[in-house]
Amino acid sequence: MNQFQYVRPTKQKAAIDALAKDANAQFIAGGTNLLDLMKRGVIASQKLIDINRLPLTKIESQNGSLRIGALALNGPVAEDRLVLERQPLLAQALSAGASAQLRNMATVGGNMLQRTRCPYFYDTAMPCNKREPGTGCGALEGINRMHAIFGFSDKCIAVHPSDMSVALVALDATVLVSGPKGDRRIPFNDFHRLPGDTPQKDTNLEQGELITAVEIPDAPFTKHVSYYKVRERASYAFALVSAAAALELDGTTIKSARLAMGGVAHKPWRLTAAEQVLVGKPATEETFRQAAEVAMQGAKAFKHNAYKLKLGPNTIIQALKTAAAA
Ligand code: SF4
Repeated sequence: MNQFQYVRPTKQKAAIDALAKDANAQFIAGGTNLLDLMKRGVIASQKLIDINRLPLTKIESQNGSLRIGALALNGPVAEDRLVLERQPLLAQALSAGASAQLRNMATVGGNMLQRTRCPYFYDTAMPCNKREPGTGCGALEGINRMHAIFGFSDKCIAVHPSDMSVALVALDATVLVSGPKGDRRIPFNDFHRLPGDTPQKDTNLEQGELITAVEIPDAPFTKHVSYYKVRERASYAFALVSAAAALELDGTTIKSARLAMGGVAHKPWRLTAAEQVLVGKPATEETFRQAAEVAMQGAKAFKHNAYKLKLGPNTIIQALKTAAAA
C-alpha cells in the first residue's frame, strides 16, 4: 500500500476544507470498501480524512420524514425502533447486506458510496475504464455474469452493489450533502449515475462534498414490504438480482406501490412504469406478472448474464407476493 497522510478533524467545515483542497484526498468512515481498494492498488489516496469524529450518527424523526445521519452504522440502523416502525423496507435491505461484522462497521453514507464489485475493476492487471479511463472494459467481452442488463454503455457494464440503495430509491429518499458551496439536497434517484462516457464517476457528488444524512419521507409503506435478494450464498454475497417492493393495500386492491431492482444497473434501478401498472389493480400473481413484464422492457443481456432476463421478473414477482402477504 502507498504511504498516505491521515487526519481526524472534529469539525464538519475542517473536513470539507481538507477534501476540497486536495483532489487526491478521500473521506474514510468504516473503511470496509476503501481499505480493500487501497490494499489492492485500485485507489492510491494520498490523504485520508477520517470523519468518524463528526456528529453525524443520529436517527431522528422530523416533521414528515425520518432523518438518518451519514455516520449511523448499517447494523444498528437496521435494528432501530423508528426505522423498523416507519421504514421496514430499509431495515430489510440493510439486513440483507454483507455480514454482521461488516454491518457493524459500515456507515449509511459509505454504503451508498461503495464501488462496484466487477472483478476487472479490482484486478489492476486488467483493462477497466472505471479504474483507469481509456483502457477499455475487460468485462464487455470477458466474464460478465454479474453485470448489467439496464443502463450500461460500451465503456462500462458494471452494477452498483448496495442493497440499502435499492430500498432508498424505492422510498424516494433524499441525500443531504454539505460542501464548499454550501448545503444541497439530491433526490436519491439522481445521486448515482449511469456510466455513459465517464464510468469513473459513480455519483453526482462534487469535489469536497460530504454526505451528512439521508432523509426518507413518511409514506404508507409500513406493512406490505419486501426486499427480496437472490444471491449465490445465503449470506455475505452480493445480489445477482434483488427487488424492493412496497405496497399500500385497500383490502386486496393496490392503492399505491413502489418498486426498484438491484444487481441490474450502474445505479439502483427504480421501476416507475411497473409501479403504475400495479396501482388500482388487485394484488394477484397475474397483476404482479404484468408489472414484471413492464419492468423488464429494454433489458439486454451479455454473453454470461442472460439468466438475469428470467431471474429479474421472477424476483420482482416474488418480492411483490411476499410484500402483499406480509
Ligand atoms: Fe471496469 Fe466497468 Fe468494465 Fe468492470 S464493467 S471492467 S468496472 S469498465
